[in-house]
Amino acid sequence: MREPVISLSQVVKEFPSDPPVRALAEVSLEVRPGDYLAVVGPSGSGKSTLLNVLGLLDRPTSGSYRLDGVETTSLRDGARTRLRGARIGFVFQSFHLLSHRSVADNVMLAEVYGGHPRKGRRDRALRALDRVGLSHRVTFSPERLSGGERQRAAIARALVGEPSLLLCDEPTGNLDSRNTDAVLDLFEELRAQGLTIVVITHETEVSDRADRRVRITDGVLVEAP
Ligand code: ADP
Ligand code: MG
Repeated sequence: MREPVISLSQVVKEFPSDPPVRALAEVSLEVRPGDYLAVVGPSGSGKSTLLNVLGLLDRPTSGSYRLDGVETTSLRDGARTRLRGARIGFVFQSFHLLSHRSVADNVMLAEVYGGHPRKGRRDRALRALDRVGLSHRVTFSPERLSGGERQRAAIARALVGEPSLLLCDEPTGNLDSRNTDAVLDLFEELRAQGLTIVVITHETEVSDRADRRVRITDGVLVEAP
């Protein structure tokens, strides 16, 4: 069996506020290639903290996090940033698209920041847009897109660096149910292509479609039915 994409072992995250907050309490979690995992839990339970740790945006206070077999906790900032750019795509509730640039430019800019080679940038952007079904929108301004199309453009931007892991924080929070379905269909296609997807959500519509669910309560993670 291929090694896990995500392997968290006894991860603790504490914030040194007064009083200190233990946002993640000895969280252990393995996610395999092609898994589609939903993370649910009440507000303030530690979901975003978990996503930040998984996305190498924040370091655990203690414990181990192996991403694609690489132990990340001991890496320097530069190496973590490069690993993030190479392996991880992010999708958020608000699409964060630049309205004065075309859809294709928005996707290409992610490559610039992801540190990918200059050569072939436009081709890779067009391929990513094709993957999400937006080939007919490449020259459009994001302002001319529907909400669902905007989120698909944001997903193309997350995919352009060919990540192994897609991390999504409430990706359908701004979408109506028809567009939510379209995004969930897309996640299923991507997963069938081998992408590993972790979605934070409070919508049962979304978590029901995942193949595995975990729940966080006060920083403690447990498998959910
Ligand atoms: P969720 O995303 O599930 O709503 P968070 O992960 O944002 O929860 O927060 C978990 C806990 O950690 C909360 O008690 C929150 O107040 C606390 N927290 C999150 N970020 C910080 C921070 N930067 N400094 C101090 N406390 C924080
Ligand atoms: Mg949150």
